[in-house]
Order: sequence, then structure tokens, then C-alpha cells
Amino acid sequence: MNSAFDTQLQSELDALKAAGTYKHLRHITTPMAPEVHMEEAGDVIVLSSNNYLGLSDQAEVIEAGIEGLRKYGAGTASVRFICGTFDIHRTLEERIATFLGTQASLTYVSCWNANTGLFATVCGEGSAIISDELNHASIIDGVRLASKSKRAVYKHSDMADLEAKLKAAEGCAPILVVTDGVFSMEGSLAKLPEIVALCKKYGAVSIVDDSHGTGVMGKTGRGTIEHFGLTGDVDIITGTLGKALGGAAGGFVAGSHALIDILIQRSRPQLFSNALPATVACSSLAAIDYLDAHPELVDRLRANVAYFREGLTRLGFKPLDGPSAIVPIIVGETATAIAMSDKLLRGGVFVTGFGFPVVPEGTARIRTQLSAALTKDEMDRALAAFETLR
Ligand SMILES: *Cc1c(COP(=O)(O)O)cnc(C)c1O
Repeated sequence: MNSAFDTQLQSELDALKAAGTYKHLRHITTPMAPEVHMEEAGDVIVLSSNNYLGLSDQAEVIEAGIEGLRKYGAGTASVRFICGTFDIHRTLEERIATFLGTQASLTYVSCWNANTGLFATVCGEGSAIISDELNHASIIDGVRLASKSKRAVYKHSDMADLEAKLKAAEGCAPILVVTDGVFSMEGSLAKLPEIVALCKKYGAVSIVDDSHGTGVMGKTGRGTIEHFGLTGDVDIITGTLGKALGGAAGGFVAGSHALIDILIQRSRPQLFSNALPATVACSSLAAIDYLDAHPELVDRLRANVAYFREGLTRLGFKPLDGPSAIVPIIVGETATAIAMSDKLLRGGVFVTGFGFPVVPEGTARIRTQLSAALTKDEMDRALAAFETLR
């Protein structure tokens, strides 16, 4: 133990505690569901999970995972190209591609991995990557790894700025433009019709990370691209299996056959890291099948979002507008957001407060996320807890 190093770490932790931004982990002893048991707070209603469709404790999804574990065991104990790849990975990847309307897809152990495995693989010398300033941290880090590429950030959803950055990148090849489909701190959507049109105009490759859109947006839950009627018009889609689609873990890149083949050849997380566990691949496949067979889940989620928004508004809160299942309430100071979420937890509702540096100073918020699995009674009880905040 290096005690000087440990003392330094401890003083950083003390500073976080003094600033009121220290994160406490809460321990759940039951499956993720609209109501869970928490060691620290007892039984609580969850409004902070990405379990948008309630599939994380869905019987078919659990059963498929158990069968997968029996059939395939724990894993191959190696990476895919060295030691073989389970047929279930191919089945899942074909299913994701069909689901999203792309030629092919490739799974990773997380969308974080997918994003960090994508950009550096396809962007060498002479290329350019243009990224929305509010993109997810995994995109930011993934783009950083493409260190040979010319990199630019455009102002959030500012199409004039995106066009200026595209003009500045003229002559580069390829030029990639990347955006979140749903921005997770605001619940707002990327301006995909404009982004796709600008990409076409400048010969750029469009990339949408739809982690918060899959299972939520569009008539059948295929995401933000379906919502805008752009199926087939976006070049590359990345996403997670760890949110609406079963909630365990896993991510993917979906796009053309050539793109997927290059990623198999050269993407570093594919070459040097194990595949998604087979049990997770099996339950993710079951989650997609379940969503396809039950599009009414998406309608139920949308009805719940409308009901909860209306309830909050009636209580005098002003949630940010937006069509996704993320409903944030701006409260200002980070300490206020944390105090509010602590009070809600004592009232039996689990919602996380976000402050600086996750969101800009002065725009701290409590972010609620709805699920199709929430009952009206649960939403009413949650609203009653919000009422005590006024
Ligand atoms: C949640 C999220 C990720 C990370 O997904 P994991 O599969 O948990 O790594 C990546 N991108 C976006 C936009 C996300 O919202």
C-alpha cells in the first residue's frame, strides 16, 4: 500500500463530500422493476432506471437467459476470432440488423465498448469526426481514441454550426457526423432529418447512438430513426442492450456488411476482449422478440409519460419538454437537486439528482424516467411524494 497515494485519494474524496457531490451507491436486493427493495431505503418506486419497457424482470427474458447459460455455459474463455464464436451471437446480430433495418450488426459487451471500438477503427489519417457537444461520454472518449482524425465539436443541435464544421472538413475522407438520438440529460431528440440531409449534402457518414431511443421512440420502438421516418437513411447506428432491451448489458454497432466486417477485423475490443456473455445474448434476443410481439408496450410507455408529465405540471413543476421517456425537472443548484432526491427517497421514490459537472452549472436537475411497467397507482404515489417537495 502506497500511503502517500492513498492519502491523496482520500483528500479528493473529502473534497467531493465537502462539495456535496459525493455519490453513495444504493443496494437493491430484488430484480429491477417499478418497485424494488433497497437496503438503505426500504421499498421504493424507481423513476431513475432505463428499464423503459419493464423487460428486465420479464419472464421470457429471464427464462431465455437461464436456458442460454445451460446450453452454452459461462463463455468461451477467449475472444471471438481466436476461439470461435457462439451461434447465438450471429443469431442476435442478424436479429438486431433486421430490427433496425441495416445490413448487419456486431455486438460488444456494452455500448461504451461499441463506441470506443468504432471511431478509431474506421478513422485514420485524413479523416474527420464531427460530434454534438452534448453527446454521451462514450462517444467523446471513442472519438478521442481516433487520434489521427481531425476532430470537431458542434454546438448542441445547432445545424448552422454543424454545416460550418462540415465545410471546414471538406477534403477529408471519411467525414463522420455523430449524435445521440435522445439526449439523456434533457430527453430531447437530435434533429435527425436536418443532420441526415447535411450529411448527404457533404458526403458525410451519419452515426446515431440511439441508446435511449431504442424501445422508446417510433411506433414499434425501433427508435429515433423510426420516429422521424428515416429508416435506411442513417449510415451507422450504435446502441445498448442494457436499457430498454432487457437491461443486462451489451451494445452493438449496426450498419453495412463492409463496416461490420472491418470491425471484426480491426476493432480493438473485438480483438482483445471477450464477447457478450451467451446468457445475455439469449435474453437480449428474447427481449427484441418480446418487443416485436408486443408493440403495445411502447404505447403504454408513451401513455405513462403523458400521465406523469401532466401530474407534475398540475403540481406546479415545469418539466423540460420532449417526446422521450426522460422527464427532467431543472432545479438550479446541485445541492438543491441532491436534497430533493434525498427527500424523495425518504418518501419512497428513487430519482437521481444531477448537477455540475454532469450538467452545466446552475442547471442541476432531478431526472425522472418512466417505464411501461409502472402502474397508475405507482405513478400517483410517486406524484404524492413530489407534492411534498413544493
Ligand atoms: C447509456 C448509454 C451508453 C452506454 O451504454 P452501455 O451499454 O451501458 O455501455 C452509450 N451511449 C449512450 C447515448 C447512452 O445513453
